[in-house]
This record gives sequence, C-alpha cells and structure tokens, in this order.
Amino acid sequence: MAKKDYYETLGVSKSASESEIKKAYKRLAMKYHPDKNQDNKDEAEAKFKEVKEAYEILTDPQKKAAYDQYGHAAFEQGQGAGAGGFGGFGGFGGGAFDDIFSDFFGGGRGRSQTTSRGNDLQYNITLTLEEAAAGVSKEIKVPTWVSCDTCHGQGAEKSSDVVTCNTCHGSGVVQMRQGFFAVQQECPTCHGRGKVVKNPCKKCHGEGRVQKTKTLSVTIPAGVDTGNRIRLSGEGEAGLNGAPAGDLYVQMQVKPHAIFERDGTNLHCEIPINIALASLGGEVEVPTLNGKVSLTIPPETQTGKMFRLRGKGVKSLRGSTIGDLYCHVVVETPVNLTSKQKELLKELAESFKADKSSKHSPKEKSFFDKVKKFFE
Ligand SMILES: [Zn+2]
Ligand SMILES: [Zn+2]
Repeated sequence: MAKKDYYETLGVSKSASESEIKKAYKRLAMKYHPDKNQDNKDEAEAKFKEVKEAYEILTDPQKKAAYDQYGHAAFEQGQGAGAGGFGGFGGFGGGAFDDIFSDFFGGGRGRSQTTSRGNDLQYNITLTLEEAAAGVSKEIKVPTWVSCDTCHGQGAEKSSDVVTCNTCHGSGVVQMRQGFFAVQQECPTCHGRGKVVKNPCKKCHGEGRVQKTKTLSVTIPAGVDTGNRIRLSGEGEAGLNGAPAGDLYVQMQVKPHAIFERDGTNLHCEIPINIALASLGGEVEVPTLNGKVSLTIPPETQTGKMFRLRGKGVKSLRGSTIGDLYCHVVVETPVNLTSKQKELLKELAESFKADKSSKHSPKEKSFFDKVKKFFE
C-alpha cells in the first residue's frame, strides 16, 4: 500500500511549524471523529488513523528528521516488526480517540465524551531510597469503580434489555437548531451511548460498574525518582455501561534518606573523621546502598576533601549507567575531652608553637601574613 505523504495528509507545507501542524491535526481530527461520521464510520476512522500517524511523526523531532530524510522507509522495518524501532505508534483501537481529545481539552474527559470512558486515577506511592534505587514490587489498594460482574458492564438485567435509544436512534447525538445553525449535542436521553437500559441491573443500578477497592501489584523499575510516574493502562475507573476504563497513574515520591542525598544518579554523603585520622591517614568504613566499603583517607586530609566511589550511586532509569557516590570529608573538632586528652593536645600545641616555621598550618600562616600586610 502506497502511503500518502505525511505533510499532504495534514495539508501543511514541509516548512510548517509545530503549532501549524498541531492546528491542522486538530481540525482534521475533529472532521474525522467517528461521532461526526456516523454514516461512513470505517472510512472516517481510516482517515483519522492516517492523520494521527502523520501528526505523531511530524511532532516528534527525531521521527520527523528521520521522515524528512528517508520518507516512509524510515519506519517500515519497525512497523513490520510490530512494536516499531521508533517505539511504534500505539494502538489505534479503543483509546486512540480519547487520548488525543484529552490532549487538546486538558483531560476534559466526560464533558463532551460520548463514550463515558472511566476516569483516570492517580495513586501516590512513597518509596525509600533503597527501594527506588533497586526497584521494588509494591501492592497497592486503590478505591475505584470496577465493571459490574453481574451484568458484565451492560447495566441491564438481560442483554435483551439494552435497546437502541429512541431520541437519537442510536447515534448518541442530537441536532439542535439555533437560528440558522444546526448544533450537535450529546443525546440527553442516553448521554451519548446510543442505547438505553429498559430493566436496570439491581447490583449496579444500571451503571454497569460498582465501587470496589482494587488490589494491584505494581512493579517499580530500578532508578525511579520523585516525580516519575507509571501508567497502568486500563486500571483506572471502569467506564459507565461497559465503556473503556481509564488509566491509573502511579506517582513516585522518594523519601529523604538519613545518610545519602540524591542528585539524579549520583549520591552524596558526609564522612566525619577525627583530627588524628585526618592528620595521620588511615581507613574508614563508609556506607553505600549495597553495604559498607573501606575508604583510604590519605595523611593530611582536610575538611571538604571529596572522594568519589565509582558506580556506587543509583542506576539510571533509562539506560544502564550507574552513578557515583561522593564522600565529603568533614574533620570534626574533638569534644568531651578527658583531662589526659587535653594534656596531650596541650603538648601538641606547645610543639607547634616551638616550631617557628609554622609549616604544620600553612593556611593559617598564609592567612595571618595577609592580615599583617593589610594593616601595614
Ligand atoms: Zn450490573
Ligand atoms: Zn440517545
């Protein structure tokens, strides 16, 4: 099948801006929407798919560049393989119409929707840093609407109790005259469904859905961070009268950690060491997400010195790279000293004083040299 040029499909020039492409798409999507094409639904849907595909390619900079260079050949392999080297175009059935209309109307589903698709839901999940870094499977309980199992979402006692709506004759819309104009509106009798229930199901009172707390298992991939969300398609509220369910969005929130501060895939932590270790050097145990490791502190280490432990950070959510752990040294002034310790320090202070070169505190010496010059 020879495919039509994407630009031609949308009726825009090759130099059209993104907003021009969006505008053209919106106009055509409205034109070919199945609700407005009751007489030739199949043809309209085919057109709609073409338009949607063209739009999806031309508004994705990467795909657009590929298309401009290679034409349709850029996507043929992927499409044949099903999923698509460019991520595929998504399913055209069912939710395709809902998706674009929610894009345009800011999620205003249900308002002008004739299918009464179920609402999307958001579930906020709090994770520890360890869970976010390693990935975790969580069971969540979501209060929602599910399809009624007595009537299988039909809302009727028997399937013969679902009949075509008399007001709109099954189209779900009615024409209203306003002066010279004919305005299409959702049918007030069937609320756009095109069908009415004569004998409503007793369990769901004809709604086709009932309230229930659903238990779901969510697999959270390694590397997620606050703000990431997972979409569980079709796990939102069930629609009215058997209409498609909405989606469930699981929103991540990673709790602050007692030791580590996260910055993307890198972690930071403070390592306090005493003056003896800082002066003489030695080993110190530092924590990582996968247990303790030994860190060598070289002699004469100062506060602020940073040691990088490669690969001890967090795995990136996309890709296989792993961040690093940055250990920031803080030299701690000793407190709660015994008289013996005080004696030792006094002795140390005396020995510093005796050494006139001040070579043990080069920073201090240079500072006081500057102070001296300043007042001269
Ligand atoms: Zn029912
Ligand atoms: Zn109706």
